[in-house]
Amino acid sequence: MRGGPGWAAATLALPAFQAAPALAAVPAVRARFLPGLHGVGRPDRVALTFDDGPDPESTPRFLEVLAAHRVRATFFLLGTMLRRWPELGRQVVDAGHEVAVHGWAHDNLLLRGPVATVRDLARTRALIAEVTGRTPRFFRPPYGVLTGAALLGALRLRLEPVLWSCWGRDWTPSATGDTVYDTVRAGLAGGGTILLHDSSCTAAPGAWRSALTALPRLLAECRRQGWTVGPLGAHRDPAR
Ligand SMILES: [Zn+2]
Repeated sequence: MRGGPGWAAATLALPAFQAAPALAAVPAVRARFLPGLHGVGRPDRVALTFDDGPDPESTPRFLEVLAAHRVRATFFLLGTMLRRWPELGRQVVDAGHEVAVHGWAHDNLLLRGPVATVRDLARTRALIAEVTGRTPRFFRPPYGVLTGAALLGALRLRLEPVLWSCWGRDWTPSATGDTVYDTVRAGLAGGGTILLHDSSCTAAPGAWRSALTALPRLLAECRRQGWTVGPLGAHRDPAR
């Protein structure tokens, strides 16, 4: 159900609401109590997600690899990047991928006030809809930091917060295709959500190459395991 209140009810039902960000940052806790937030979907599927684009230096390279493998993914966009490169945002959608809200800039929401947080979310959601013609369904905060204000803002904007179940640590200067593949694979299971980055605008320059190098091997491994790789929307709602 689009914008359904299930995740919000689960989150708000936590005994100490303000503790939610801290608890949600612990993967095991997320997986146990907040499977939707953890990105857990059908066991025969894996969701593939990219953060921090669109970026003309790197996003087209990821689009090429995904097209070659006939795989669609979810791109969590930054408003500041999309405003600079709107045509690239349209290319992502035209290639069949899902677009979602990462944030306006790449701020840690613990350092933004509640009003600014909600304004950032609304502004990014509106820009994505205006530029791509698609209304985003999902929201992933920078650094995975979900504050109370971000959760309430997402609820108001009918955005579903989603983090990830495994990542490649592809933003570090020492990351290589091998380290990204091994790190993702160690945490990957059927039903999981992979986090990679199609831009290094907030990371070590050129770090995206590690994710790009690992991507074909990761897709091959998912095929070998019998997992269908796709965007979050299909992960949650296979009929889409
Ligand atoms: Zn990010």
